[in-house]
Amino acid sequence: MLRLKNIYKTYKVADNNVEALKDLSLSFRKNEFVSILGPSGCGKTTTLNIIGGLDKYTSGDLIINGVSTKEFKDRDWDVYRNHRIGFIFQSYNLIPHQTILGNVELALTISGVSAKERTERAKRALDRVGLENQYYKKPNQLSGGQCQRVAIARALVNEPEILLADEPTGALDTVTSVQIMELIKEIASEKLVIMVTHNPELAEKYSTRIVRLLDGKLIEDTNPFSEEDEILECSNNKEENVAQVEKKTKEKAKMSLWTAIRLSAQNLRSKFKRTLLVALAGSIGIVGVSLVLSISAGVKGYIKDMQNDMISGNPITITEQTYDMNALMGMMSTEEKKEFIKQANEVGIDYAVQTVIKRFGAASGIKNDIKKEYVDYLNKMPEEYRACITYGYGIDFGASIYSDFKAIGQDSYTLTSINAIKDNYSNVLGKVKDFSEYSSYIMPLVDGFKQAPSSSEYILSQYDVLYGHIPTKADEIMLVVNKNKEVMDLTLASLGLYDQMDYIKIAMDANENRDNFDPSIKTLTYEEIVGHKFKFFANDLIYKKSTDTSSMSIFNYNYSINEIDSTKINSSNSLDLKITGILQIKDGMQYGCLSSGFYYTQALVDYAKNVNKNSEIVDYANNHDGKIAYSIPAMKLETSGITYSYQFNYLDPDDTTKIVSGTVNSRLSAPGGMDMASMMGLGQISTPFTLNNLAGSEKVTSVKIYPNNFDTKDQVTNYLDNWNNTHGAAEKINYTDTVGIIIGMINMLIQSVTISLVAFTALSLVVSTVMIGIITYVSVVERVKEIGVIRSLGGRKRDVSNLFMAETFIIGLSSGVLGIVITYLIGLILNLSLKSLIGFNIAALPIYQAVIMIMVSILLTSISGISPARIAAKKDPVVALRTE
Ligand code: ADP
Ligand code: MG
Repeated sequence: MLRLKNIYKTYKVADNNVEALKDLSLSFRKNEFVSILGPSGCGKTTTLNIIGGLDKYTSGDLIINGVSTKEFKDRDWDVYRNHRIGFIFQSYNLIPHQTILGNVELALTISGVSAKERTERAKRALDRVGLENQYYKKPNQLSGGQCQRVAIARALVNEPEILLADEPTGALDTVTSVQIMELIKEIASEKLVIMVTHNPELAEKYSTRIVRLLDGKLIEDTNPFSEEDEILECSNNKEENVAQVEKKTKEKAKMSLWTAIRLSAQNLRSKFKRTLLVALAGSIGIVGVSLVLSISAGVKGYIKDMQNDMISGNPITITEQTYDMNALMGMMSTEEKKEFIKQANEVGIDYAVQTVIKRFGAASGIKNDIKKEYVDYLNKMPEEYRACITYGYGIDFGASIYSDFKAIGQDSYTLTSINAIKDNYSNVLGKVKDFSEYSSYIMPLVDGFKQAPSSSEYILSQYDVLYGHIPTKADEIMLVVNKNKEVMDLTLASLGLYDQMDYIKIAMDANENRDNFDPSIKTLTYEEIVGHKFKFFANDLIYKKSTDTSSMSIFNYNYSINEIDSTKINSSNSLDLKITGILQIKDGMQYGCLSSGFYYTQALVDYAKNVNKNSEIVDYANNHDGKIAYSIPAMKLETSGITYSYQFNYLDPDDTTKIVSGTVNSRLSAPGGMDMASMMGLGQISTPFTLNNLAGSEKVTSVKIYPNNFDTKDQVTNYLDNWNNTHGAAEKINYTDTVGIIIGMINMLIQSVTISLVAFTALSLVVSTVMIGIITYVSVVERVKEIGVIRSLGGRKRDVSNLFMAETFIIGLSSGVLGIVITYLIGLILNLSLKSLIGFNIAALPIYQAVIMIMVSILLTSISGISPARIAAKKDPVVALRTE
């Protein structure tokens, strides 16, 4: 049934050729016990390996059941070994980290037999060799003889036709040898057994035929099997043979991937400590990257939470003169963006935005023409998107609201416009030594009167009323204080709540004792504040055509505070403004829709528009293009403008006993943007008054949209975008979503920091990948025997490489899982210890990222395993088995 025909086998060693077999021809019967004898190195093992398909002959042919193997592919050899051959080795070649049952099952495992059948058959095979009830011992718990029995059981479990034994008793004592020989003899009664031995007595005693080799040549055969006999045997068994061949080629030697994983898992479990250490080392990179991702996600989550809060303080705004903030942000470098965020945080978003506009804005100014149709469109915005929409009409209340003010050098309080008081302080502070550098920083913070959002309900959702009630009427004003119930002294002062002397002393004191200034200078009771009244005057009381031809008379309109006399104070065109409520942001809220300061109502806006719409100055402006200053040709001296001059006094910074006088020329306007006033030495230039400033227009100049929360904000912006997408360039309205910009910017910064940190920590991933590659290679070297055994049992190269890929897969999986567990633990510790300090959970690795990181770990270790697995697969099984 098996015939070697003129077999040559040449090994190449360095430059030499070693001829292990020279023209060997041998035939074997279907059923006999052949012993191959010969001195060491004569080619016995080589012969056996060639018969077993483990080694390839150099020339000649091996004929199996009349079929030549010349055209055999790797795959055919694997199937052949798996189904027809059983190997027994001198050194047993058992896999040490598996039970003997596992060792025996391996041959069946490779052929893909189901688990249940596998165990049954393996137990039966072990029973047959006399190892009942020892199934779960490891090879190192058995004697040599028992090990060889296991090897025999493994060789027989697949019911092969041929058993090849290479010095099976070579390592055993005489008594055990005899027992093993008896066992083999019994097997030989139904199979072809070919045994290599250099013990002639055993050969004589047990075998039916002895073949002697010398220097790779046949020198004696006690019971040759001629070609004719073989043909006869073949035809006798023809049907049986054909059936067998068909059956066996249908079955494929194939080890499932799951089996590879199971085998590797067993191997790794046998080296548990080392595996744990490797996984731990491998997890360091995963921990690094995941921790960065975790903290990044934590901070982003915190910022998202903050957004809802921020959105109330920073509504979406539309103004006539605006800037393409996105374009502005695009011009900023990362450093500038960081600076911007810092400023927004420390001084306020508005201030930060103003700074950016000052710096970059010139190039990207945009004009919005907010027409009635647009306002109608806004009013149709679904209620559920927005908490409230507030429209501004550009009224300059600063010029029409008055307060008592006592200037230095004057004995009594006089009624002075808020604008004048503010400008006064601004000028005085600018002259106080060392204060000028601060004045530009402070002034943006001092707003006179601001318009409150039109919905009381919305305000009350964010603010507690400390005193009185929330104003709704035209003559009602509210004061908003900060968390500590403080108001900036500059605000109070600019509103005339301090006299000038008091305030300047405070300012100078603060300036001199900058480092240890005690800010608790003045405490006002609610009653003191509420008792304070402001006065609103209509245009006709304020603006009067000037007939004066003195220094100021180049302007058609000129106004001086002295013209407010007692008769006017209580005229019907004036209104007493009472503070009816003091509000404070609710506990736990970071940002609200109001900053600290005074707020007037929508009703006052309506009142002012109503009382002023037929005023003289509005009529004039209406006849001059709606603008007071710009409507008159540039260089004519009859240029129209509105100004008031105001005499102010301040303490000489160098000698605080001296009072110095100055003049404020406010609201002085020059046509065509020309700096006419300064040309003529008149001082400060302001923007010209428009019809809107004079409360003479129904045209909306600004809109504030307060979305319900951060999610509906997107719906609001979509709604606004929708207008722009369906209207021409001239009707497009550019809105500013400050929160969106800031959050976007912060996220971008976090992103860039995250990316660079991930890149940095990923270095350790590379290191651990290389390390796992090395360790897998070490494992290949350690498991070389196992590779040989698997191959001798018919395992494919694929199976061997799968084995190591499985090993790296398991290591990758464990490193990944371990890394994620460690990350979550560190995150937990960070959160527990930092929460009270920073107020939010800093580490929050999303599950999907955790899963991705585990996959990254598996991927990287798998990549690192490719090369060692290939090395393993390419290992020559003969060499592998010879390795000790
Ligand atoms: P035996 O089993 O009879 O002791 P072998 O079949 O192992 O002898 O070896 C036959 C000859 O082939 C010896 O000279 C041995 O050195 C050589 N040989 C066997 N395997 C290899 C190999 N893989 N590479 C090189 N030479 C080999
Ligand atoms: Mg040998």
